[in-house]
Amino acid sequence: MRRIRVMPPELAQTIAAGEVVERPSSVVKELIENALDAGATRILVDIRDGGLSLIRVADDGHGIPRADVPLAFESHATSKIDSLDDLERLATLGFRGEALPSIAQVATVELQTRSAAEDVGTLYRTEFGSARPIAATARPPGTTVAVTHLFGNVPARRKFVRSLRAEAAASQSVVAQYAQARPDVALSLTIDDRQTFLSPGSDSLEDAIAAAQGAAILPNLICLDWEEGGVRVGGVVSTPDVTRQNRSAISFFANGRPIANRSLGFALEEAYSGYLMTGRHPLAVVHLTIDPSLIDANVHPAKSEVRFATDRLVHGAVHHAVANALADHRAAVRPVGGLDYDQDDPATRATLRPLPEMDAPAPPMLQDLPALRVFGQTNAAFIVAEGPQGLYMIDQHAAHERILFDRLDAALDAGEVASQPLLEPTPVTLTATQMQALEDNGDLLRSTGFELEPFGDDACLVRSIPALAVRAATADLTREVLDELAVLPEPAAARERALAAMACKAAVKAGQTLDVREMREIVFQLERTPRPATCPHGRPTMIHLSHSQLEREFGRR
Ligand code: ADP
Ligand code: MG
Repeated sequence: MRRIRVMPPELAQTIAAGEVVERPSSVVKELIENALDAGATRILVDIRDGGLSLIRVADDGHGIPRADVPLAFESHATSKIDSLDDLERLATLGFRGEALPSIAQVATVELQTRSAAEDVGTLYRTEFGSARPIAATARPPGTTVAVTHLFGNVPARRKFVRSLRAEAAASQSVVAQYAQARPDVALSLTIDDRQTFLSPGSDSLEDAIAAAQGAAILPNLICLDWEEGGVRVGGVVSTPDVTRQNRSAISFFANGRPIANRSLGFALEEAYSGYLMTGRHPLAVVHLTIDPSLIDANVHPAKSEVRFATDRLVHGAVHHAVANALADHRAAVRPVGGLDYDQDDPATRATLRPLPEMDAPAPPMLQDLPALRVFGQTNAAFIVAEGPQGLYMIDQHAAHERILFDRLDAALDAGEVASQPLLEPTPVTLTATQMQALEDNGDLLRSTGFELEPFGDDACLVRSIPALAVRAATADLTREVLDELAVLPEPAAARERALAAMACKAAVKAGQTLDVREMREIVFQLERTPRPATCPHGRPTMIHLSHSQLEREFGRR
């Protein structure tokens, strides 16, 4: 019989580390949280080989004073809380003091940091738990943590790591989550030297969502703005016509921390009942602001689950916030019957505009575009036209993109995207990421009219392309679509971005002179699309100057 023994400390630490550092993306998560807790405004994440060769997170936060650096790597050492009281009123993402020591236990970690009060930075290196002496280094204030040889000493853990691409995708989701949690912070992710994610840090949730899920979604989002029993519910949800096959596009944040809480998801979906088909799920980015003492973040080693002291209150607030937003949206949309809708009525405008605080040029609010008469083209980029409600300036590229996107989308739904065989198969050289995207997305590519065959290690043979995209340069088109497919882990978003890339490459360009027939054709087609006002990337296709606006501009009103 085996005797019970106390583990040697190193084994105990490695086992404990496993709870925090489950896979490379857990490291990315902990390091981003530390950067955010340090007040960073910019966070640059670099990973290589799914994170196994390198995870580097650089921030411009307040840094660590030299004397504290070794302490940061001690178990249960934290600058964030002092007492149980602090834990009750947690304002930071971290508090366990376990991340750096756990990571250092299973990898080589190099930390470079400088606090604003110091002139010289500090370099600290530890290899699988054993530290090297501290050295000086020149660097701007902030902190960079580079993690290499992850799981080099725990082969068992390394075996559980999935494909490098899946690990990279998991890290990308983490970065995208924090970008949506904190739109005021700019986050960038580079995977194997290619930047795959960038949020601007503009403090606009929209911009962060556009970075995370593609701007195409923006016109279909409605704002939440609700407060109940001390719980503030903000963020956005999708209109019922935009749905996903799973719940992966539903995110909740509590005081800026991404949280998993299954019952919150139910409270949200409950509000959609009657709006959604079974098996379909909305998209949602919900920000809760709640007294920190009512949240217990200390229920999970990776802090990804939280408990609320007032569960029912929080659920009720989410449910009501969403139900009301949906009801308002419905009330606002129904009376819009094309022509008799007053663009200038501030009330209509406020309720219809999906995201009122948008500071980009507001797209026209028309749901249906009336029949327009084309006058001509200006700057070889814009079509000028007149309708019963005034003057329209249409971006020829954006408009054509919208037309092609909607046609591709409908054809793909119907499973009949026309494919155009090329006269001769064309070889196109590809990067490793593009090759991987080709391998992973065979079905989607075939269904959109591509016939691509791997050709050696770094190229493919293009036999057919989507018929709608025949204007596009084959190599360009193929690479662009594969790039889009490489970036996003979420299948519905990948499809949308791939279609948007095709539409973009196939559409007429700005700078292209169009004859009147071509312009009429674009306007005619645009009138027939369900969402004429924005291109697939969410930018406006047109600017509308109503008669009353013209009169006002000319001082007639
Ligand atoms: P926790 O975040 O729970 O405090 P960590 O092990 O993640 O524990 O970090 C330990 C300590 O190291 C933090 O409390 C903080 O003082 C310091 N630290 C870690 N990363 C950074 C960073 N990027 N910028 C400034 N300080 C940091
Ligand atoms: Mg931490």
